[in-house]
Amino acid sequence: MALRRGIYKSPAQLRAMVAPGRITAAMLQAARERIVPGVTTAELDAVAAAVVRESGARSNFQLVRGYRHTTCISVNEQVVHGIPGDRALVAGDIVSIDAGAEYEGWNGDSAITVVVPDPARPEMVAARQELSRVTEQSMWAGIAAMAHGTHIGEIGAAIEEYVTASGHGYGILRDYVGHGIGRKMHESPSVFNYRTPDPGPRIQPGLVLAIEPMIVAGSEDTVVEDDDWTVSTVDGGDGSHWEHSVAVHADGIWVLTAPDGGAAGLAPFGVRPREIG
Ligand code: MG
Ligand code: MG
Repeated sequence: MALRRGIYKSPAQLRAMVAPGRITAAMLQAARERIVPGVTTAELDAVAAAVVRESGARSNFQLVRGYRHTTCISVNEQVVHGIPGDRALVAGDIVSIDAGAEYEGWNGDSAITVVVPDPARPEMVAARQELSRVTEQSMWAGIAAMAHGTHIGEIGAAIEEYVTASGHGYGILRDYVGHGIGRKMHESPSVFNYRTPDPGPRIQPGLVLAIEPMIVAGSEDTVVEDDDWTVSTVDGGDGSHWEHSVAVHADGIWVLTAPDGGAAGLAPFGVRPREIG
């Protein structure tokens, strides 16, 4: 157990993670507002880059070796790690945006999924909105398990349970998982999006996790595209990705990358987030 002590942060360190969380939320909010048919993924990336710059922060994605962009933007059968470029969004696309900020040495990491409106194809839009809804709600179920639970294994179990209960037969990516976050964007421990035999580390004050279910309409088998980054489904089914960075502190939990600390998302699960004192 001694090896795991390093994953828990002090109250002062938790307070330092509030600002990068807020900046990350603002990046995604700004990018979301610009989603319309015809906008390119590079333009959305530039919107997020402007927010991070104006905040006096740095893009932590650019600290990942070989990556030059502020966000990952994944469209339709792409699930995660899509590279922003000259692809123009079209009506009906399902778009996941993943962003993060480093501020004064601490990190935030969050992702949203948006379906571009398409009045001509209501059934396809409804199916994609349902995939995004289940993915987002499974994330909130996982965050609620972090509030109630004793070990992080309960988070993955709650995510899997929610996805299974939806009855759609969606797949859960196995090769990509959530993670601890702090001085680095990716820290121990891994946060699985499914039930595992190992209960994992204890949930206690000082734990900060990025909880990020990656859910697909069909098979969870994925392939990395020729660009060496983009992760797409093998069967061409749609993907959705939602993510929040969440802190456990002495008084409860606080969703660092949600402007309301997670109050709205957690209310249906009977959890009230508490500000980090
Ligand atoms: Mg992320
Ligand atoms: Mg992450």
